[in-house]
Amino acid sequence: MLDQEIEFKFKRLNNGAEATMLNKKGRLTSTALILNKETIEINKIVKAIRRFDRLLQLKDGCVIGFVVRGKALVPLMENINRMSSLYWAVEEQNKLDQQGRGGEFRIEPCTYCGSAIQLTKFAHSEETYCGYCETVVKRDQEATPGESDDQ
Ligand SMILES: [Zn+2]
Repeated sequence: MLDQEIEFKFKRLNNGAEATMLNKKGRLTSTALILNKETIEINKIVKAIRRFDRLLQLKDGCVIGFVVRGKALVPLMENINRMSSLYWAVEEQNKLDQQGRGGEFRIEPCTYCGSAIQLTKFAHSEETYCGYCETVVKRDQEATPGESDDQ
């Protein structure tokens, strides 16, 4: 799922302020996000959100904020969301299978960011909303990027 590990430099955020002076090394592998000495398994991550140059990982209700230096931010965020959305989709499918409702499972890759959008709970429609890149995806049409904070 991940062609190549992504290495990046980051600073942790503490209440919105940079917590440390020095950049720390981070790495994204096919199973985990490693922030210096801290390893966060992909299956603990709900989603990565971009606010300016910041990424927030929502993990068991917890939020981890960090600033990523350099060009790694976008590929990092997209790959985290692709991997974690697929993980959560498989979880959902297993849950439905156990309830004998496996046939109801519907999923679609976001044409904009590649994350797996779960459609099971939603009616069939012309449009899908991707909660990962906050974009309304129209079927058989180009994606319309949603409004973002970093303009
Ligand atoms: Zn998307």
